[in-house]
Amino acid sequence: MSRYAELREECCSANRRLPEMGLADLTFGNVSVMDRARGVFAIKPSGVEYEKLTPANMVLVDLEGKVVEGKVRPSSDTPTHRQLFRAFKGVGAIVHTHSRNASAFAQAGRAIPCFGTTHADYFYGDVPVTRPMTEPEVASAYELETGNVIVERFADLDPDEMPAVLVHGHAPFVWGTSTELALETALVLEIVAEMALKTLQANPGASPISCHLLKKHFQRKHGSAAYYGQPPAGKTL
Ligand SMILES: [Zn+2]
Repeated sequence: MSRYAELREECCSANRRLPEMGLADLTFGNVSVMDRARGVFAIKPSGVEYEKLTPANMVLVDLEGKVVEGKVRPSSDTPTHRQLFRAFKGVGAIVHTHSRNASAFAQAGRAIPCFGTTHADYFYGDVPVTRPMTEPEVASAYELETGNVIVERFADLDPDEMPAVLVHGHAPFVWGTSTELALETALVLEIVAEMALKTLQANPGASPISCHLLKKHFQRKHGSAAYYGQPPAGKTL
């Protein structure tokens, strides 16, 4: 039995959930799950349909890009995931989708404005978009450079407070401390992108919510003063 049985299992079921959650068409999209203690992550194999995914065909890759276990090629987006795991140390899972409304903002080269509290509960401000990639970046190690432009965009952003990005002309990457949270955040991103498009339809001049409302909603769910929901096991009210 693989040393990475649990990681394979978790990665497989997370990938299979993408189409169930309405976040993936055909084979677009992939999830990776990190084991920080071992410095290894599991990722979907390249070009395999979601129904054909099994724990056995997940691919295990280390942070240098070496395949540690796996009989098939990993997702072509693997170097992007690797750069994000290397740069954002608190990230436990990464979800890449071409979900339609979030991708529409990526294609438009526009950040998703924070128009309401649904957005503010998960993202501390506008969801950013990267700069367009240059011809040499696209011609060389394209997927690795995609990771680099994301990291560059986060030079003055905290990936714990902004767990998503739109890659210009492409689609979103979303992350979380756990696989469950990364999937949930990818779904919320798609929902708030749809809401934002409708907001702009209803009022092309709509403004983002105030800083104080944004701060209130984000901080009641995140950080040391969070009070939304139930406390984690072992922590008192
Ligand atoms: Zn993609």
